[in-house]
Parts: sequence; C-alpha cells; structure tokens
Amino acid sequence: MSIPFLDLKAAYLSLKEQIDAAVARVLDSGWYILGPEVEAFESEFAEYCQAKEAVGVADGLSALHLALQAMDIGPGDEVIVPSNTFIATWLAVSQCGATPVPVEPNPLTFNIEAPQIQAALTPRTKAIIPVHLYGQPADLDPILALARQHDLWVLEDAAQAHGAKYKGARIGGHGDAVAWSFYPGKNLGAMGDGGAVTTNDTELAMRIRELRNYGSTEKYVHRVQGYNCRLDPLQAAVLRVKLAHLDPWNARRQSIAQQYLAHIKAPSFTLPSVLPEVEPVWHLFVVQTAQRSAVQQHLQQQGISTLIHYPTPPHLQEAYRLNMRLPVAERMAAEVLSLPMGPHLPAEDALRVIEALNSANF
Ligand SMILES: *Cc1c(COP(=O)(O)O)cnc(C)c1O
Repeated sequence: MSIPFLDLKAAYLSLKEQIDAAVARVLDSGWYILGPEVEAFESEFAEYCQAKEAVGVADGLSALHLALQAMDIGPGDEVIVPSNTFIATWLAVSQCGATPVPVEPNPLTFNIEAPQIQAALTPRTKAIIPVHLYGQPADLDPILALARQHDLWVLEDAAQAHGAKYKGARIGGHGDAVAWSFYPGKNLGAMGDGGAVTTNDTELAMRIRELRNYGSTEKYVHRVQGYNCRLDPLQAAVLRVKLAHLDPWNARRQSIAQQYLAHIKAPSFTLPSVLPEVEPVWHLFVVQTAQRSAVQQHLQQQGISTLIHYPTPPHLQEAYRLNMRLPVAERMAAEVLSLPMGPHLPAEDALRVIEALNSANF
C-alpha cells in the first residue's frame, strides 16, 4: 500500500456534496466576476483571520505583488526576503522593480529573525517580508518593532500558514498586510488558483482592490494603471466551504506532527523546532538530514512519497544567479525532506512512515 505525499482528492471527496452545490450556485447565479460570492468569502476570511479587510486576488504571487505596489514600493527600493523561501516571495519584489535582499533563516525554525534582518537594512530598505515557512509563524513582534523603528512596511507571506497563531492571535492581522495563496495544495486550497491580502489598513485595502481590477473601483474610472487579477467567484464559493473545515483539518495536521516529533528517532535527523509563542499549522513537516537521498530512496521503496521544499534556493536559480553565498539556505536545499502530511493522512500511515525511518538507522 503506497502512501502519497498529500491526498488532494480525499479533501474534495470528503466535502463533495457541499462543494458541488457551491459551484452549481455560482453557475446558476449568472454572476461570474467578483460579486456576492467573492464579497462573502472576503468577509468570512477577514473575520477568520481577525483582520479588518480581506481582498481576494488571482493567486498568492499577485497578493504579494499588489500589496507591495500598494505600499508604493518600486525601482531603487530594497525589500528584505528570506534566503530559503519559495521563489514567489522574491518574484513579487522583482515585479515591482525593487530589489530582493536575502536574509538567512534560523535553521531550526526555518524563519528569518529580527537581528539578521537589522544587519541587512540600508537607507534603501522599504519593507520586510517574513515568510511563515512550512506553517510556523515567524517571531513577529521583534520584526514589527524593528520596522516601526526604521519606518518600514511589514508584509507577511502567509501562503503556508492559514490558521496558524502567533501569541494567541491568528496570522492575518499582525503586519501591515498579509498575503495568502489558495493554491490547491495549501492548508486552505481552492480547485485552481486563488489568493488574498488581509490587512487592518483600509486605505491599503482600497488600493489593492483598485490594482486587482484595472486600477478601478468605479466602472470606467481608472485612478491608477492596474491589473486584471481578481479572485474567481467559483473559487471563492469552494473556499467558503473549505474554510469551515480548516480548523479540524489543521488539528489533524498538528496531531500527525506530534506523532512525528515524538517518535522519529533517526539519529542523523534534525526535527523542526517550534517557538513557544506560536501555534504552527504544519503545511509541511520538514526534517533535515545529510543522508537525504538514501532516506528518500528507502522510503520510496516502501511506497512512501516525499518531496523537497526547495531543492534550489532563489539566489542560485537562473532567474537570479546572484553572485553571493548563502550557506544556511544552500545547506537546507541540500538536506531538507518533507514527509507525508495532510488532513487526510491516516494515523496508521504516519506510523508506517515513522517505522520505516526508525528501522533503517539513518
Ligand atoms: C505557494 C506560495 C506562494 C505563491 O502562491 P501562488 O498562489 O502559487 O502564486 C508564495 N509564497 C510562498 C511561501 C508559497 O508557498
């Protein structure tokens, strides 16, 4: 019996009737761009995130890009990004004409921290993008304090952290703006692309609403040069169904992570560390081992699928090819391995993963 890395179809089948009904409701409505379904999702998601506003956009990369543009970030500006993130975090900065400035993460939590960010600040720095990588919130308060001190924006990349908490409050309303992706494999995933920005800044929200819709909030009136970058009402309808199940699904991920943390004994492994002030939602469960390819092969022989997030850091991609060494990110790229994780992974399968790892004495 094989164990898939993530069973996306199981999520659909478990809610098939409700999702099919939601899709039919949109088709029957005759309303296919923005409108009531998108507005309803926006208000439900804002409330869930404990934020004043949510703006639905086409995908996570656009959420980051439009938020930066609404902050007036452009050519000549620098934006702090993690060295070990998914490349979209960097691309959003580049799309504004600004320069991504990488900061190395804490290798145990995978997230960037205030002291290393402070060391990378220059007079051109305009914003910081902490990424809540793999579903664990970054330590936000020191980052927010640093930003206030230097008059910088904080845009959180929460593409992997739907429902996660920092000091008891959900991710979504801490920084100036928070960017979300609803790519199907995320903790809250659509049946295609989707994204959003949450914020407590109504002016910023208004600017993002404008940018996603040709620079317009009133038909045929264009205040700025915008984009066509809106959340699809079909996806909004699906997301409304799934949002109601996000907490129990995250709880399942948390219980699998507890199983892994308590029982994986492979001596060469570094297991993820969790900060005491956060509640992670385990988008991914990532171990680090110098014997990665042997481990991956051993698991595959037993039908257990794993993935690597991410095999090449952005600065070494052909898209950037920066002439710099970022040793923490480079070592992570060589050693990280993501174990099967998801709300529909049976506890027995997680046990089989643990046994397969412990039996091989890696
Ligand atoms: C998925 C992801 C994105 C991009 O989201 P898309 O919806 O795929 O554009 C951005 N940042 C991080 C950290 C992600 O994991």
